[in-house]
Amino acid sequence: MKTTILGHPRIGRKRELKKACEAFWAHNINENTLQETASSIKKQNWLQQKSLGVNYIPSNDFSFYDQILDACLTFGCIPKRYENINKDNFLELYFAMARGLQNKHIDVTAMEMTKWFDTNYHYIVPEFEENQQFEFFSKKIIDEYQEALKLGIKTKPVLIGPVSFLLLGKEKESGFHRLELLERLLPVYFDILTELTALDVEYIQIDEPCLALNLSNQAREAISSTYIAIAERFPKLKIFLANYFDCYGENLETALQLPVDTLHLDLVRCPLQLDDILASKHFNPHVNLSLGLIDGRNIWKNDFEASLKLIEKASKKLPSENLWISTSSSLLHTPYDLDLETNIDSEIKQWLAFSKQKIEEVIALKHLSSEENNSYLYLFEENKLANLNRKKSKLINNETVKSRIENLKVSDAHRKNRFPIRQAKQKEALKLPLFTTTTIGSFPQTKEVRSWRLKHKRGLISDEVYNKLIAKEIESSIRFQENIGLDVLVHGEFERNDMVEYFGEKLNGFVFSNFGWVQSYGSRCVKPPILFGDVSRPEAMTVKWSKYAQSLTDIPVKGMLTGPVTILQWSFVRNDQPRSTTCNQIALAIRDEVIDLENNGLKIIQIDEPAIREGLPIRREDWKAYLDWAVKAFRISASGVKDETQIHTHMCYSEFNDIISNIADMDADVITIETSRSEMELLDAFVNFKYPNEIGPGVYDIHSPRVPSLEEIEHLINKAKSVLPKEHIWVNPDCGLKTRDWPETKTALKNLVLAAKKLRENA
Ligand code: GLN
Ligand code: ZN
Repeated sequence: MKTTILGHPRIGRKRELKKACEAFWAHNINENTLQETASSIKKQNWLQQKSLGVNYIPSNDFSFYDQILDACLTFGCIPKRYENINKDNFLELYFAMARGLQNKHIDVTAMEMTKWFDTNYHYIVPEFEENQQFEFFSKKIIDEYQEALKLGIKTKPVLIGPVSFLLLGKEKESGFHRLELLERLLPVYFDILTELTALDVEYIQIDEPCLALNLSNQAREAISSTYIAIAERFPKLKIFLANYFDCYGENLETALQLPVDTLHLDLVRCPLQLDDILASKHFNPHVNLSLGLIDGRNIWKNDFEASLKLIEKASKKLPSENLWISTSSSLLHTPYDLDLETNIDSEIKQWLAFSKQKIEEVIALKHLSSEENNSYLYLFEENKLANLNRKKSKLINNETVKSRIENLKVSDAHRKNRFPIRQAKQKEALKLPLFTTTTIGSFPQTKEVRSWRLKHKRGLISDEVYNKLIAKEIESSIRFQENIGLDVLVHGEFERNDMVEYFGEKLNGFVFSNFGWVQSYGSRCVKPPILFGDVSRPEAMTVKWSKYAQSLTDIPVKGMLTGPVTILQWSFVRNDQPRSTTCNQIALAIRDEVIDLENNGLKIIQIDEPAIREGLPIRREDWKAYLDWAVKAFRISASGVKDETQIHTHMCYSEFNDIISNIADMDADVITIETSRSEMELLDAFVNFKYPNEIGPGVYDIHSPRVPSLEEIEHLINKAKSVLPKEHIWVNPDCGLKTRDWPETKTALKNLVLAAKKLRENA
């Protein structure tokens, strides 16, 4: 049995790559130093895998920014706007494509970025034009192979497959489909494979994750013809074809007939497909199977007993030399090493496995499945015990929470009355003007505010001092909002580090790591909370500050919460119960908070759900089930209040077209969305659907320090006014203002209020 992983984290154990890249961008270190950091990370990754006993160690899985950007450069797929950058200065070109470049001679924007399947990782979107030319430009894949060879390691180079590469990109002009470029792209693959073969490479891992998507016939045919063409030209080269994040689904027949050496299966996301494959009439005993048993997307210890059963099943049809044990996907989406964690409760820690521990699991499974009565048996016992402890742990199981979930009633997910009735009552209670102005929640998080939080967390300032500082900041933000004449105020979120972490820290069922970083994009890393157990709310989480803010003013202040789907989506979530159950538990905790806020005099409460859309499953046929439970969880969180209490929700960076009926189903009294950059284009979905409730299309792009003028804002509101009933329109920025500075924020919000007033006068 062979062992491998599909890819390794690459930011460095302590985020060395992040720090080096940022220092390089700031001209604080030179290219040599950056390259040295990169080499030492790669070396460490490879040697660790070698010492742990991995047979086929990947290379070309390292990247300074993103593996798809690397691929663009490998294939010479470089958009025209970068042509004035000297190609010999590789890193300048590379980072210009990643981040844009602005200096005396050049001013180019970055390439677009989007989410990598259903992960929180973002890749750079390849851009194609109709007569796109490709060439084998960057030799990174060759260089990395040789770099590892110098360390005595013959790696398995990793490369994105041509069909996935094309499908992941987009056409920059109309009149053609990007798959038509395959014929031109393939020769570059042939060049690459020729060079790799000359170096005596045994295996190459080609990733075709598009095989997890609903593909067109044309795309499936492209896959077949590609691998037939490769096999004809390179009969000796062994292709390890990887698909991950979901089942092969209706692409299975195609996949099974490909002339590849090994076919990789994600058995974490799709354990049942092993049966389908072994029973398929297209099952070919000459194609090896790679069993992706170790979860590359989560941080839980593997269940050896279950994995060994799957291995046994496969072993009945295939001799062990035809089987691989591997991770379900690249380990890029998991943190480096659990051994670095010293603060996680030891009971919980024994349930976890980060990247290094996952590699150890791959090796352990190989030994446990291949040797009889072997010296590894203790690992099996250890694993079994840890998983058993987890099941029975008091830390996880909370009977009160479980019984609340079991006793949920249909009415818990419904407001008392329908929107038109609520709207009338809210009008009466709140007496808000037309084109009500508000903001999305956070105000600038200045250096001082951040430093207070940090000092408080480290015990360097007392609760008392800290609370005074936050109270003062809230007070001055309330005074500012009153002064400029906003209609619905916010407290400003100064006490919050992050919109999920803040709630995770206050809820039972979450733990936090110190070094559990995973790459989000480029040098940006996130440290998702670990949601390990039944979620409950020991005490109110936001009431103190919201209530305080409201006590300062007669104008309504919005309570500010993060919604259940977003908390779920941005955490490492327990895998021992359906996500929907976990989501409902969070929803109940938020529901209690909403009711507490209402009882404490908050008349308007916002429940942010920016992550609803990104939770959509990869395969279309799974969308409905997800949207059903996600929308329901939101409704559970929002429905405990009386009709007069106005519930807002907020979403950013979303395409709404294909989920608009579900958004409407959430039944928030008001939704605020991000629309300013698209010139209100994103509003179309709401207009075409005749969205029934109130809506605040963003009229101030908060991603830029630019201050929008009164006229610009007026123009945007007018656009909204031309397509929506004016009684339904709110006026607000695109999103929270925490990344902005006060001076620009103040001017922009003044303009926003003035624009709304002007429109009101003319209405
Ligand atoms: N209330 C949050 C804020 O203003 C919303 C953030 C978000 O949507 N990402 O910061
Ligand atoms: Zn937002």
